This record gives sequence, C-alpha cells and structure tokens, in this order.
Amino acid sequence: MNNKENWSLATKAVQGGWDPQNGEPRVAPIVQSTTYKYDDVESVAKLFDLTAEGHMYSRISNPTCDVLEKKIAAMEGGVAALATSSGQMASTIAITNIAGAGDHFIASGTLYGGTVALFTNTFKKLGIEVSLVDASLSLEELKAYIKPNTKAVFAETIANPALDVLDFEKFSALAKAAKVPFIVDNTFATPYLCRPIEHGADIVMHSTTKYIDGHATSVGGILVDSGKFDFTNGNFPEFTEPDESYHGVVYTKDFAACPYIVKARVQWIRDLGSYMSPMNAFLSNMGVETLHVRMDRHCENALALAKHLKAHPKVSWVNYPGLEDHKDYALTKKYLSGASGVLTFGVKGGKTEGEKVMNSLELAKIVVHVADVRTGVLHPASMTHRHLSDEELVKAGVSADLIRVTLGIEDIKDIIADFDQALEAI
Ligand SMILES: *Cc1c(COP(=O)(O)O)cnc(C)c1O
Repeated sequence: MNNKENWSLATKAVQGGWDPQNGEPRVAPIVQSTTYKYDDVESVAKLFDLTAEGHMYSRISNPTCDVLEKKIAAMEGGVAALATSSGQMASTIAITNIAGAGDHFIASGTLYGGTVALFTNTFKKLGIEVSLVDASLSLEELKAYIKPNTKAVFAETIANPALDVLDFEKFSALAKAAKVPFIVDNTFATPYLCRPIEHGADIVMHSTTKYIDGHATSVGGILVDSGKFDFTNGNFPEFTEPDESYHGVVYTKDFAACPYIVKARVQWIRDLGSYMSPMNAFLSNMGVETLHVRMDRHCENALALAKHLKAHPKVSWVNYPGLEDHKDYALTKKYLSGASGVLTFGVKGGKTEGEKVMNSLELAKIVVHVADVRTGVLHPASMTHRHLSDEELVKAGVSADLIRVTLGIEDIKDIIADFDQALEAI
C-alpha cells in the first residue's frame, strides 16, 4: 500500500515528488534540456492551450523542478508549487501575481533586508504601495491599515534577522478582514518546524537557498498555493476575467484547484523568465531529503549556544526565540516545533568590540548567508542591511551591535569553544 497523502513529513522529504516507474532512475534525474519533443503539432497546441499536461520549454516548467515543486507542496500541505530563480523572485511574484500599479498591501515591518528593499523601493517604481507595520500592534490597530485597494498581507514565520515569531492568528484575521490572501515567508522555519497553511496562510514562500538546500550550493525560491483562498470574492478580477495574454484563460474557472500557481507560472514566470534551473532544483531536492534530520541539530545547536552566550560575562544580550524569556516564547511554543538555527547577540563594547569577536572566530566563518550546515556569522548593519536607513534598521529589528549567528550542524562543543576563544579577544 502506498498512501502518499498520509505520509509523514520526513517520508515526504525523502521520497516525495518522484515515483519512479519500472526501470526508471531511482534518483530524480537532472533533465538538463530546454526543449521537449512531440509526435505531432496537435500535442504542442494542447500544451499551449493548457488542456494537456506536459513540458514545452524550461523557462516555464521542467521535470526536475517539477519534482521539487511537488515535494515542497506536499510538505507544506499545499496543492501546487512554483520554483523560482531566487527567494527574491518568489517574493516579487508572490505580490505581483495579485497586486498591480495602484494597489496596496500590508507587510510586517520585521522582514529580511532584501524584501524590505524590494517592497519599498522597487515596488514603488511599479506603482505598488506597501505599509510596513509594527507586528506587535493589536488586530484593531492593524485593521486601520486596510484600504479599499489592499490586496495582500505578508509576513515571515521567524523574521530574519529580528527573530520575531509571527502571530499567525492575528495576521490571518487581518487578511480575512481585508478579504485578501495571507502570504507567509516560511524560509527560517521550514515546513519541518512550522506549516503556515495549518495556521491560516493562503500562500507560502521560501528562499530555498537557505535550509531547503541546506548546503549553500544553490540560489532558489518557491511559492506554494494552499488552494484555499477564494479569488472569486470580487477583489481579484485578473483571476476571474479572461486573460487576453493567455488565450482568454479564466484562472478561477479553468484551474479552480490552484489558480494562483497557474497564473504565476503562465504570466509571470513566462514573461519575466525567472524559473529555477534544473541543476539547482536537483541540488535543492537532494538537500531537502535530509531537512528533518538537519533541522533538529540546527535547533539544538542554536539553543545550546544561546544559553552559553547568555551566561557569558562579555555578552550584553542574546536573542533567540527558543529562550524562555524571549518576548515571543509563547508564540514559539504555539506555532513552532523548534526555534530554528539562527540567533543574534551583542557584546559589551558594542559594534567595535563585536567586530573584533567576528574577526577572531575560526570555525565560524564570516559569510553573507544563513541556514546551511556550516556555522557562520554576519554583521547586518554593515553587510546585508547597510542600504537601510537608521529608521528602517530599527523597524527591521537590527541594532548597530547585532551579530547574527547561523548555527551549522557541527559538534556544539567545537562551536562553543570557538566563540569562547573569540570572546577572549575583547
Ligand atoms: C534570503 C531570504 C530571502 C531572499 O532569498 P534569496 O534566495 O537570497 O533571493 C527572502 N526571505 C528570507 C526570509 C530570506 O532569508
């Protein structure tokens, strides 16, 4: 018996998305082909009409990417997924697929720096307005941001690098009040620690560059459609009226099960040309096969280092949502089965002394990355977030002395010894 729908997450991570038939490769192969062959003209016409399933061109779909899409959709509990060339492209299409010039959306203020830049600068050029809100406001206060042209509510499960934990109940109620999709960036939590769709999310996205790949080899992103949002509610005419750019397709009618992903693929991915490459899909799929095993170790190591640094006389503060005195600990307990592998801290003496510590680390390398098997450190104010104004830095939860640590899966004894020797430098 092969009841894949009911497989647990670990089994889906290993075996999901690829079900080889007699004599086919056990491992989902890299289909490094832009092009596909057909027996007759009619077969191709059906593909273009979207009346037959299949691949026509690797800018729009590809069998290797398809495996990753099916697997992540299954792990998140969604109905369909779309792989993109980066997490940034997933964030871009997550919004442009439902909001255009003259529209508005609401996003939590504590977001990844690249997402803040995209939402506030580039989207402004496209005529899309964002309200970055203080996520600690009450539901009533948040509702004041809803406008007649509001099209989405966006937030991160665990904010990078503020490490705030999302209040799903409040934000999904906000999206419901606005009658718009609730989009969640689940990059830091991964479907292993949190499945946003179970807590009211309509669309889930990832930078697969992080824990999904897990080995720092491949930039990529993915969008997952829960299939639950009602795009026929009157707010989204692009979904309910014929798309003249695609033979008059009506997404909510012709693709009622997953209109969001089909529209994103045949409009945005087709036109922008920002699909994931087969090689990156292969590597990301290999990474996700061990996600459930890696995440436990990432969480364990982060909690252990957080506790150690907290007790260290040269450390002024530690921020990790798995610590019992973290302001969001109750949300961690409610929504996450682990607080993930990233923590932040500051040392006594602030930025200058913090730089000394970073420069003295040996095992933990200075990298502009998080969420892979190797421990690394970053100083957001001078690196990833340096383009943000002081005010935006505060909103993003980044102080000048903040050092972000991404815990790998090495032996925690060696990691702690490395931080101890580096703290000796100050
Ligand atoms: C890294 C990251 C992104 C952007 O992803 P890329 O793959 O780097 O384009 C988006 N959201 C979060 C939470 C991230 O950490």
